[in-house]
Amino acid sequence: MANADIALPDTSHTASRDLPHGSLHIVTPLLRSTSYSARLGRPVWFKMEALQPPGSFKARGIGHACRTYKERGAKHLVCSSGGNAGIAVAYSGRLLGVPVTVVVPESTSAAARERIALEGAELVVHGRAWSEANDYALSLVKPDHAFVHPFDDPLLWEGHATMIDEVAAAGVKPGAVVLSVGGGGLLCGVLAGLHRNGWGDVPVIAAETVGAACYAASLAAGVPVDLPAVTSIATSLGARRPCDQAMAWSRRHPIVSQVVSDKAAVGASLRFLAEHRIVVEPACGAALAALEQAPAVAPPASDVLVIVCGGVGATVEQLQAWDRAS
Ligand SMILES: *Cc1c(COP(=O)(O)O)cnc(C)c1O
Repeated sequence: MANADIALPDTSHTASRDLPHGSLHIVTPLLRSTSYSARLGRPVWFKMEALQPPGSFKARGIGHACRTYKERGAKHLVCSSGGNAGIAVAYSGRLLGVPVTVVVPESTSAAARERIALEGAELVVHGRAWSEANDYALSLVKPDHAFVHPFDDPLLWEGHATMIDEVAAAGVKPGAVVLSVGGGGLLCGVLAGLHRNGWGDVPVIAAETVGAACYAASLAAGVPVDLPAVTSIATSLGARRPCDQAMAWSRRHPIVSQVVSDKAAVGASLRFLAEHRIVVEPACGAALAALEQAPAVAPPASDVLVIVCGGVGATVEQLQAWDRAS
């Protein structure tokens, strides 16, 4: 569906024009934060995934998956996310020259719809909730199409793992890694990256918000469980059930679950904005808030790495409004 209010860009751009080396993601900065390091009393490193062109780390795994599906013959990419995953698929498809259809529910914001349309993807609005949009997206998948899942696909994990390759190449071995968990795709990717770099001993702090903590609930139960509803404002963490692989990792890697309030997540996003001048969603603020637990988990005096996963679903005004309301 073309939106008449949006001037569509020239969508003939290919990877070679957008990104010099034909990659669908960029090598992100690894920043040692002076202010956070001072507060924690140990070096704190930020892997700045918020700077990926489509706004989040999803560029890595989704880019890798979309490229692989194209190589395997896919003529069209379909996904069902009105958030960062949908934007990353639309972006990847444009760079690869493969048409994309993104199905979003009616609840998806106008800003997200515009972002997807600006990437030149076909935008279909269907259903009240994500599950209805997802069922409809699956029904659109023809034999020469590929369906791109937002978190449960080994190709995604392989792509996400490259962020840890970059940290290893920089020579910074952390004593703990802090990251956010929605459905667990980022977690599985970071764990794959840690293990393939010989860092299987580095504990991971898995941050979620109250009302979106399906991983914490599943770890407590010992099996994946479904949340009855998602009530957190951190909508990018709003998977109702974590992927099986995230559960499997919990049996072979030290993972500490940390659940923070929406208020703490928003406050952490605002502090990051004040100190590092970059807007991140509360979904990312959750990891920044959970960072306070790192000294209890990481070996004494060791460095801490935070995956600043990013996200386009928040503005300064929205963060301030959430802060006032909570
Ligand atoms: C997708 C996303 C998450 C959660 O990632 P999962 O792979 O679903 O665990 C967290 N933060 C942001 C900004 C995201 O886009």
